[in-house]
Amino acid sequence: MQITPSGQEPIIQPRLDPTLASGKINLLGLDRDELKNALREIGVAEKQIKMRAQQLWHWVYHRGVSSFDAMTNVSKDVRAKLENHFIIERPEITEAQYSEDGTRKYLIKFEDGSEAEAVYIPEEDRGTLCVSSQVGCTLNCKFCHTGTMRLVRNLTAAEIVAQMMIARDDLGEWENPTEGRSVTNIVMMGMGEPLYNFDNVKKALEIIMDEEGIQLSRRRITLSTSGVVPHMERCGEEIGVNLAVSLHAVRDDVRSEIMPINKKYNLEQVLQACANYPGAHNARRITFEYTMLKDVNDSAEDAKELVRLIRKYKLPAKVNLIPFNPWPGTPYECSEWDQIQKFSDIVYKGGISAPIRTPRGRDIMAACGQLKSASEKKSKAQILRETEQVSA
Ligand code: SAH
Ligand code: SF4
Repeated sequence: MQITPSGQEPIIQPRLDPTLASGKINLLGLDRDELKNALREIGVAEKQIKMRAQQLWHWVYHRGVSSFDAMTNVSKDVRAKLENHFIIERPEITEAQYSEDGTRKYLIKFEDGSEAEAVYIPEEDRGTLCVSSQVGCTLNCKFCHTGTMRLVRNLTAAEIVAQMMIARDDLGEWENPTEGRSVTNIVMMGMGEPLYNFDNVKKALEIIMDEEGIQLSRRRITLSTSGVVPHMERCGEEIGVNLAVSLHAVRDDVRSEIMPINKKYNLEQVLQACANYPGAHNARRITFEYTMLKDVNDSAEDAKELVRLIRKYKLPAKVNLIPFNPWPGTPYECSEWDQIQKFSDIVYKGGISAPIRTPRGRDIMAACGQLKSASEKKSKAQILRETEQVSA
């Protein structure tokens, strides 16, 4: 069990056993060693294990099949045996929403009934899948809708990989794995703090990066953290993906107010961890995410201070300015457009790239910080109804 920074709420760890009620093992989400062990357990001869695991790996992760019948290079007898003991099953999509701009949002329900979201965002030169690492988030950043969810648990590696599989299914991507990929990039920017679920995120990304499977390069994967300092270096060393850091303020008092984790790991510690991030250099810059909150963090002084800090720590960095996405009940407003541009200009003049992120999929509430599962939304509606009944 993992204790959150507040030291109070324990994060419920998911059940790691992939055995289903049917007694069958779900192969989706197993790594190579687990796959070999599963084969061993059903009595496959030791000298065949490596070859069979290789075949399964190819069919499950490179070809995306979910039926053993499709495995044409596996003999009928073996296929029957596999079918008796295993399944290859994705979690259920409870809702898929398609935005006018091509953004697709999937609400995914896992075996225990909890839900998380994944969002596909097509752009001219890439297609990015925004992946969740937890159901909800314990960190309660004040401007983030996910942070208001009460139920929190880590996702298993299988549940994280499944988000990629589901998106590729929906986009019809398995047929021609080498040409015309739709999902070219992954950002760990969905629900949850990925560094509080380090082992599962690492395992999932290793499966996704495997050269004989989904084959997504580490250069095309970005992990976003709110600044969990002790795990940042490990992330660079052990996973080796690009790093994005949710900064959102340039003074400790403001950052602590909007991001309670700053009381545990302050700006100086976060920026120093960025300076130490393995593999960060000019060609592979760290991205600072900065959500523009009206009258909170959007002044010209804030912009200048941001430039000063990035220079002080000699960070190879760029800044992503995110217009705040309001959600029902939020106390914050998005900065005025002029103010966002002014902020961006100051940072650019300081020699640091500071593009303004265009909101995507707004019609389906798919934008940053709006991810929240339907069941939670329902319970909020329920709460509202109850309040109305009390006040009536
Ligand atoms: N937990 C991780 C990753 C998920 S959030 C993190 O905090 O970095 C992805 C980005 O969206 C983060 O930078 C987050 O701070 C930002 N964000 C959250 N809520 C937002 C909102 N309502 N409007 C705009 N950006 C938001
Ligand atoms: Fe969690 Fe990130 Fe939202 Fe903060 S911004 S509550 S860390 S998901």
